Amino acid sequence: MQSFSVVCTACGDVQNVGAVYRCRRCGGILEIAFDYERIFAAVTFDEMAARKVPGIWKYRELLPADPEAEPVTLGEGGTPLLEAGNLKKLGKLPNVLLKNETVNPTLSFKDRPMSVALTAAGQLGMREVVCASTGNTGVAASAYAARAGLACTVYAPVATPREKLAVMESYGAALRMIEGTFSDAYAAAQSDALDRDAFNLTSTYLNPYMVEGDKTLAYEIAVQYGGVPDWVIVPIGAGPLLAGCFKGFREMKEAGFIDRLPRMAGVQAAGCAPIVRAFKAGKRDVDPWEDPIVTKASGIADPLSTYPGDGTRTLSIIRESGGVAIEVEEERLFHWRRQLAEAEGLLAELSSTTAVAAAEIMVERRIVSREETVVAVVTGHGLKDMTVTIPKT
Ligand SMILES: *Cc1c(COP(=O)(O)O)cnc(C)c1O
Ligand SMILES: [Zn+2]
Repeated sequence: MQSFSVVCTACGDVQNVGAVYRCRRCGGILEIAFDYERIFAAVTFDEMAARKVPGIWKYRELLPADPEAEPVTLGEGGTPLLEAGNLKKLGKLPNVLLKNETVNPTLSFKDRPMSVALTAAGQLGMREVVCASTGNTGVAASAYAARAGLACTVYAPVATPREKLAVMESYGAALRMIEGTFSDAYAAAQSDALDRDAFNLTSTYLNPYMVEGDKTLAYEIAVQYGGVPDWVIVPIGAGPLLAGCFKGFREMKEAGFIDRLPRMAGVQAAGCAPIVRAFKAGKRDVDPWEDPIVTKASGIADPLSTYPGDGTRTLSIIRESGGVAIEVEEERLFHWRRQLAEAEGLLAELSSTTAVAAAEIMVERRIVSREETVVAVVTGHGLKDMTVTIPKT
């Protein structure tokens, strides 16, 4: 029996479960809803967390898959939460814990949403998947589509790191290079998905299944930390990872597993920061980023050109959590990319380094004290973007 439904976050309309991307009534962002009372009456959160199943599928009652569904999995999730004592000595940092998502099967957290989405694709009878990608989504989609035996087409901006394109091709995906930004690739992927009746796995709020994979990150953080850290810092493009994370914490509170929620910090590179700009201006609505994109943090460079509402949703979640949106200058990003590698042995891509750099900025601005604990989500591995060379100092 279906234990979840698809509802509109704007008007509450309940949609048919299927390959749906926007509310049929008002065009709003869709979300998966669960009957938590029923779920937690049958199994407690502690019981799920204690299961021997590796990774995200130990929480399967909280994922949008039918009970008999065979998950499409490569062993995603179950990543370490690392202490970072050496880093703390190097700058004005709080107690930073690093959630190391670089050790997922395709080296980024995107494997979590892809495992859930490809499992859904099978159940919905989809034969093909498409996505727009700045790199990691395309890599994860290619691998999980291969695992599921589905054809995969990736729309990527020409600025996508070559390593990522080579990896997608290795998994057998068809590449479509787009002369433009991620937002241009987004439009091409969505029209292709609708034309060919393919499942769209673009990492925005288009596909409601994917946020459900993202939320497993929160479960692991709470279980590994043994409670709720003061802050969780998440690099954001449109922001579904941040939204998923906060949803995961809310569910654990609902389950009685935790008694409060963390504050969420969303981080963007200063060279493409539409959500931060709206946050700083005190605006409710996020506007598209119309300036040139001047950052090498390609994994999170999303100008939100035709879907600024996705940014508005992320911003409202940040505010709801009592959080902040932080932008980081290029120089500081490169600095912390290097420090993370040299001091902790962790090679992250530039987009991921934003989380650690933001921790320093938050101390400088007295948003966090050095006694507080922050979890910085290190979203993707540096090996997939070696075109970003580390400048000599
Ligand atoms: C996709 C991605 C993010 C965040 O993306 P959202 O689409 O906002 O969830 C952060 N870091 C890396 C490396 C990514 O690939
Ligand atoms: Zn609606």
